[in-house]
Amino acid sequence: MSFLQRSVLALRVLLWVLAVSLGVFVLATGLGVMHERDRMLMAAHGDVQKTLNGNMGAIAVALWSYDTPSMTALLRGMTQSGALVKIDIQDDQAVLASATRVDAGRVDKVWTVPVMAPDGKKQIGTLSVSESYVEVDKHIQAATVTLVITQLVEVIGLAFIIFIIVYRLIARHLHALAEDVVALDPSAPGAVVAMDRDRVFNDELDTLVTAINRYLRDRSEEMDKRSAAESSLREHMAEIEVMLAALSDGVIAVDGECRVRYANSAARNFLNAYDRQVEGMLLDELLHFVLEPDGRLLDGLCRTVVVEGVPVHMRGNVRIRPTTGIEFDAKVSAVPAPDSGDVAMILVFTDISAEISKERQIEFQAFHDPLTRLGNRSLLTRDLARDIDRAARQASRLAVLCLDLDNFKNINDALGHGVGDVMLRQLAQRLLALVAGSAWVTRHGGDEFIVVLPDIEDGEQAATLAEQIMVEIARPFRIEPHELRVTSSIGISLYPDHGVTIAELVSNADMAMYEAKRDSRNAYRFYELGLLHRSTERLSMENGLRVALAEKQFALVFQPKTTIATGRINSLEALLRWPGAPGGAISPAVFIPVAEDTGLIIEIGAWVLRESLFVARRLREQLGYSLPIAVNVSPIQFRSEHLMNNLELLASIEPDLAELLEIELTESALSGNIPEVTKKLNKLKEYGFKIAIDDFGTGYSSLAYLKNFPIDILKIDQAFIRELHVNAQDKAIVGSIVQLGKSLGFDIVAEGVEEKEHVEILADLGCDLAQGYWFARPMPEADVIARYRQS
Ligand code: C2E
Ligand code: CA
Ligand code: CA
Repeated sequence: MSFLQRSVLALRVLLWVLAVSLGVFVLATGLGVMHERDRMLMAAHGDVQKTLNGNMGAIAVALWSYDTPSMTALLRGMTQSGALVKIDIQDDQAVLASATRVDAGRVDKVWTVPVMAPDGKKQIGTLSVSESYVEVDKHIQAATVTLVITQLVEVIGLAFIIFIIVYRLIARHLHALAEDVVALDPSAPGAVVAMDRDRVFNDELDTLVTAINRYLRDRSEEMDKRSAAESSLREHMAEIEVMLAALSDGVIAVDGECRVRYANSAARNFLNAYDRQVEGMLLDELLHFVLEPDGRLLDGLCRTVVVEGVPVHMRGNVRIRPTTGIEFDAKVSAVPAPDSGDVAMILVFTDISAEISKERQIEFQAFHDPLTRLGNRSLLTRDLARDIDRAARQASRLAVLCLDLDNFKNINDALGHGVGDVMLRQLAQRLLALVAGSAWVTRHGGDEFIVVLPDIEDGEQAATLAEQIMVEIARPFRIEPHELRVTSSIGISLYPDHGVTIAELVSNADMAMYEAKRDSRNAYRFYELGLLHRSTERLSMENGLRVALAEKQFALVFQPKTTIATGRINSLEALLRWPGAPGGAISPAVFIPVAEDTGLIIEIGAWVLRESLFVARRLREQLGYSLPIAVNVSPIQFRSEHLMNNLELLASIEPDLAELLEIELTESALSGNIPEVTKKLNKLKEYGFKIAIDDFGTGYSSLAYLKNFPIDILKIDQAFIRELHVNAQDKAIVGSIVQLGKSLGFDIVAEGVEEKEHVEILADLGCDLAQGYWFARPMPEADVIARYRQS
């Protein structure tokens, strides 16, 4: 059998040869036999004719004489052999004689021949001749059998010989080759096939072997290359996996069907799937994306990224909801993977819940006032822009109401900030309740509020609201044990009548508010164009300040600070004067804010510092001792880089700079970025300057807040001193500031000391220093020298 298996090709050749040669044989033999039969038939027929011709004369004579026995004898003689098996003679009436061969058999052909009279002139009868070809057919049959047998033997023999040849020369080699190839270990290096046979010339089989070997060699080289590439890839993969495992971000790789192929350990942690087999799961079975703030499920993120090939990055507006585990705010990047390989998308995500909640808190802080929790200036800017936009689109109006309490400062001064704060909170609640639904309120620091009333048709609605607000505010505030009454002034500007930008609307409402305050207080006013002239005034002041700076129109006066216990001068405060101001001398309380707004304060402040130093040096020379001069430093100046640069410059020309200058800062300079402020204060302390907090008690900072800063002196604001001798509450406040302040190591200065009683009370309360008209008004340098030379 195995031999047969190896000879399939040869067998097939054998069968084909057999089939084809048998076909050819059958055809050729058939044709040959038919031809031979025709020939033999013709010959037999010829013989019959010859016999007839040979006997025709005798037959004619016998017929002529009606010699029946002769005719019968003649006919019998003719039918003894050959194809002629039967013959009749008939005249025109009847059959006269007839002869038939005994074993006549089948008759194949019957034909007639005329018999002529012996003179050949007239037909005297007819011969009916019957021929039989049985003999011929027998002969042909015998010949055919012989032919078929010999030819078949020949054909089969030939086919077998061809089979043997094909088997020996081709089939067995091919079979061996095929077995070799099948058995070949493709990973074995240098595997080749060979053929075991003798031949003189190379033939197609050799070509085949060469081709196979070349293919094997190429393939083995390719496999070497591939396995090298694979092993380096494996190394890379291992490195990448270590890296991914170390990442704190969750990383999930999914295939084109969004099935997880890989998830690093951070991802498993986030999804609470540490001990689960996640590979093979659909991403949907592992987690859902929830859109913020509406909580909608974001279905098909994976599909979109995979199909459209567009990356998606989300932060702050998406949460991840694991199918097991707790939902969290997430930062998500879903990036389509390059076309190659199984991975279709990489999902990177991390839990930013803590960050987000801090951001929300910061955002709330950024947009809200911590005291009243109303929106602040930033919120106003943001939301007013939105409302203006809408009004513009709907061609409607909106009103900006700027509201300021008329006598809030008194309450603050008299009862302390605690009470003031409670009142502001109550006020905020009242405003909120009043405008609920129709308008919104923000606080602008201090006692200033802005109410925005959108979607109105005319100013009347705004006026009505202003009246309601005034009534609401005028209701007494109950803050045990007090019952407090305040009034308010309101300025109103309308969009688009009085301005189209936030700045215009707010500043015009503000201007109108001041106008209301100046006129009568407890009133509201709409903005009018005439109010503009104030800002023109301001503009001319700005220009004036620039000119003053360039032309050195500024001057300094100096006010002594006196040690209460001894009555001796302790130091001076430099106060700025602008004698050449347009329209006559104006208070620094008026022009300093303008200088601050325009930034001119930086240069002016630099000049004050420099000038004060020069005066102090001259005083040291003239008086024979150092009299330090305190210089007011504006918050703007304090925050800018210039201050430190200036001081450095001055320190380079005066080694004892800190003996000659002190620094006065208001509380507002200390607000804001605490680390930055502390750094600056420390820098000032490095120079050795004494630092004073000016106007203490008017701002919002507490002593507890100040104690964290390197501060030396507190200057109690004039407001607390003014009625010290008549107002027990003020006295209590000053007393507690002195006590607490001293316990924290501050020197205390009372400002605005105008009365003898002030001095006595302050001495009683233990205050160290006093400054005010009672001791001296601010005076020019020359007066200082004249006055203090002898002391
Ligand atoms: P301040 O620093 O609180 O200065 C004290 C103010 O009180 C001065 O007003 C002074 O003239 C006034 N004063 C002193 N004693 C009495 C008194 O017994 N009764 C009354 N009613 N007032 C008294 P001035 O000079 O008009 O200055 C006003 C404010 O302008 C200053 O308040 C200060 O904040 C600012 N300022 C003055 N000069 C400068 C300066 O050079 N730079 C900066 N940044 N601000 C300055
Ligand atoms: Ca001052
Ligand atoms: Ca002051």
